[in-house]
Amino acid sequence: MRDYYDILGVGRDASESDIKKAYRALAVQYHPDRNPDDPQAEVKFKEAADAYRILSDAEKRTRYDQFGHDGVNGQAGAGFGNIEDIFSAFGDSVFGDLFGGSRRRGPAPGRDIRVSIKISFDDSVTGIDKSLRLSCDVRCHGCNGTGAKKGTHPTTCSTCGGQGQVVQAQGFFRVQTTCPRCRGAGQIISSPCSTCDGHQIVKKESEVIVPVPAGIDHGQTLRIPNKGHASREGGSEGRLFVDIQIREDKRFIRDEDQILTEVPISMTTAALGGRVVIPVIDTNTKPGDSVVGEEEIDVPQGTQSGKRVIRRGKGMPRIQRNSCGDQIIRFVVQTPTKLSKDAKELLKQLDKEIGGDLKSSSKRGVFW
Ligand SMILES: [Zn+2]
Ligand SMILES: [Zn+2]
Repeated sequence: MRDYYDILGVGRDASESDIKKAYRALAVQYHPDRNPDDPQAEVKFKEAADAYRILSDAEKRTRYDQFGHDGVNGQAGAGFGNIEDIFSAFGDSVFGDLFGGSRRRGPAPGRDIRVSIKISFDDSVTGIDKSLRLSCDVRCHGCNGTGAKKGTHPTTCSTCGGQGQVVQAQGFFRVQTTCPRCRGAGQIISSPCSTCDGHQIVKKESEVIVPVPAGIDHGQTLRIPNKGHASREGGSEGRLFVDIQIREDKRFIRDEDQILTEVPISMTTAALGGRVVIPVIDTNTKPGDSVVGEEEIDVPQGTQSGKRVIRRGKGMPRIQRNSCGDQIIRFVVQTPTKLSKDAKELLKQLDKEIGGDLKSSSKRGVFW
């Protein structure tokens, strides 16, 4: 057997934290999930765990220092049998979230709930607390989730010994199946709770307030922990997923955090310049009120149809950031369609004065 200090690569005077650090480094290096095709890695992983088990315990370490392997083996098993034992022995105290939590222990959480809600454009700008009524599985209060009648307790299933699984021989094969007596629960409830009929959970209507943040976009999903169904195994509640739909608003087109607004202007305003009133949103509006306001902006002399103006920070709020996108204004020059006789004469005179010098404003090949 190799020396435990050698295995961890630390000196005999190593501190507790040096030993832990050395072990963590080896555990990461030889983790079976990271070395799936290397049986040698698993051996090293176990070896390091055995060394750490002894050297991290002051009493065992002293005995090991005095008597070597003979001083610590023989008591409480000589080492770890399998990988799962290592994770359950050291758990979070050593590994923390080192392995991405993929080795989570404990009962399964409850089922998730998914709902869809529709909100107005205004609500998406200000954010809003939406109240939802949900029918949810909750732990039964009559039996406190055991499923057994008050004063009684579930008993361990004698067929499977509480494992919920039985092994049956079929010819040459041994097949593991769900226990037929307890149907996998591992327990037998002889007198079921009258409230839940032994199901451990009951349906309950409840109100959940969903905080929809300002700037939420159509098609996004909110994930709220612990607002789903109760777990039958005593684990945490499932999650609540809320899919967000936003009703269309004729005045604005949204593109991520930008607001796109088309502003019609007359031919004469385009040529001479002037001022027009445009719809704007006010991101400081209280939830529930209309966010739409008006502002007057300049139209520069000689504005072409399709000309864009960017209004910085006047777009949609960015979720959980103290900033907003931009509002993009696009001027569209409206050509008059109903002309009086006088107007026609004036335009003809105007054409003599300024017309005839036309050129394309767009680059070759770009047409929209
Ligand atoms: Zn009950
Ligand atoms: Zn059983």
